[in-house]
Amino acid sequence: MMRWFEDVTGRVGTVQIETLRRILESNWGVEYLDRWFGPGIRIEEVEPTALESLYTSLVPLASHANFEHYFQRIADGDRAPILTRQPIELLSLSSGTTEGRQKFVPFTWHSARTTLQTFRLAAAYRSRVYPIREGGRILEFIYGSKQFKTKGGLTAGTATTHYYSSEEFKIKQMRTKSFTCSPEAVISGGDYRQSTYCHLLLGLLFSENIEFITSTFAYTIVQAFRALEEQWRDVVRDLGDGSLSQTITVGPMRASVLEILGSPRPALAKAIEAKCEELAGRDWTGLVPTLWPNAKYIYSIMTGSMQHYLTKLRHYSGDLPLVSADYGSTESWIGVNIDSAAPPEKVTFAVVPTFSYFEFIPLHRQRSSHGQNGCRFAAPVDDFVEGEPVPLSRVRVGQEYEVVLTTFTGLYRYRLGDVVEVVGFHNGTPKLSFICRRKLILTINIDKNTEKDLQLVVDKGSERLRKARGELVDFTSHADVGKQPGHYVIYWEIRGDVDEDVLRECCREMDNSFADHGYVVSRKSNSIGPLELRIVESGTFKKILDYFIANGAGLSQFKTPRCTNDPVLLSILNVCTINRFHSTAYTAD
Ligand code: AMP
Repeated sequence: MMRWFEDVTGRVGTVQIETLRRILESNWGVEYLDRWFGPGIRIEEVEPTALESLYTSLVPLASHANFEHYFQRIADGDRAPILTRQPIELLSLSSGTTEGRQKFVPFTWHSARTTLQTFRLAAAYRSRVYPIREGGRILEFIYGSKQFKTKGGLTAGTATTHYYSSEEFKIKQMRTKSFTCSPEAVISGGDYRQSTYCHLLLGLLFSENIEFITSTFAYTIVQAFRALEEQWRDVVRDLGDGSLSQTITVGPMRASVLEILGSPRPALAKAIEAKCEELAGRDWTGLVPTLWPNAKYIYSIMTGSMQHYLTKLRHYSGDLPLVSADYGSTESWIGVNIDSAAPPEKVTFAVVPTFSYFEFIPLHRQRSSHGQNGCRFAAPVDDFVEGEPVPLSRVRVGQEYEVVLTTFTGLYRYRLGDVVEVVGFHNGTPKLSFICRRKLILTINIDKNTEKDLQLVVDKGSERLRKARGELVDFTSHADVGKQPGHYVIYWEIRGDVDEDVLRECCREMDNSFADHGYVVSRKSNSIGPLELRIVESGTFKKILDYFIANGAGLSQFKTPRCTNDPVLLSILNVCTINRFHSTAYTAD
């Protein structure tokens, strides 16, 4: 795998042209391409040097909205070659939680194949830094979501769900010589609480053999260990008796777990009980190395909106390395973390030039215009001025870009909506740092704040909380324009007994920490009102998770929305609010 990667990254320009040619040739004649290319062009005769410029001059940049009606036709059963020549049998639901609604995206065998390649490639680089024992076990917190049939009879579900039920998932275990603890019936059991319990139970059954712990996104590992804190006595009892809690009601899941459990393990149960008692006495610090003494690392996406869970993950992992996993989307895999020793805050992703044809739109940050305080503009798109898209071989270090994909699954010049920065190169391929989703999340008038801006502000506010021995479990936000002036509301779920004065300070600190000029100016002139911190009761974010899961999201791909206008979510948050604080920042100005 590594030799192959060295080769393709050593000739990125030609590999990208070959990739584009393969995508276009295999889908030549489909409705979407015909629309832009028109008749008369024989793609196989176009010179390699002319292919990229011909393609980018004829086919426009597009967003999900431009493709939506094509996806809908496919979902409704139109079998004509619309986007790809091979009929599309599966549709993926991109988690879309950051935007509040789910989106259809085609899934083909290519999607599963590149997932396998990504995992094998990343495993190869990881094993250089953290070798693991062949034939060992992986404790994988993975979950298939409910699949359903579209009107046209296609199967729809999250991309991870399709992958877990594909051949490639089995092949991955064979090729990387590491085996997941849980059987298929647990992964695709359809009830995430029951699956989590069984993942934990089997993870502890194989505790001496676990080589590493993983999930797609870090959130899932944190939620699993929180479940262990609550349910460890039941898990220990089941291990000791060789039984299974009555809360596991999904038939195939019960049967397969009971079969693996086999006979009672009183000695193992006693040892784990003693460890859990000790862990409970120290607030579960170092849970992972205590319960899984041979685990070498934790591997999961810890960047972007997952950064928030790092503190808790470090609490659980003690000295064990955290390896931040790769960069991809339902639309396409993009890059692999090849520097496994890098701390999650510094992780980069080397783009794999065979996965898709990549373009990058340069983004230049501009200072907010100001001077028109008080008037409400239509919400601006964001704070960037765009340059002309460049191919993968022409990106520059230090520049921020939006990623554009042309994929084997029928997306052509599709704007992914992610902002990345090029921070270096591996051979000829760029190493990207994930910055944020491009869409603004908090904006009332001239203020412009992205998910990343909010994350920085919440980090600042929660520093004070941590000093007071409080823990920020999760957070989200809302730009409330119901009353004039509008103001930001930040919702926090916290753990620990924290004084109201501390929370008041946290609120003020957050209000003061928005660096965006538009926000500062608006706050000084009171065209945006004081920031409000609402504390929600324990378990509120679990309810939000349940709401998404009930609507088809998969736990494996779940990301807490960092800002919401969804009336259902807002009503959950508001009903669960137990305390409110209004910032006193800017009162002296
Ligand atoms: P999904 O909707 O599940 O397809 O999520 C894809 C999105 O998740 C990407 O477009 C990114 O915004 C985010 N994402 C995926 N991988 C990473 C990563 N390694 N770091 C940060 N964000 C990521």
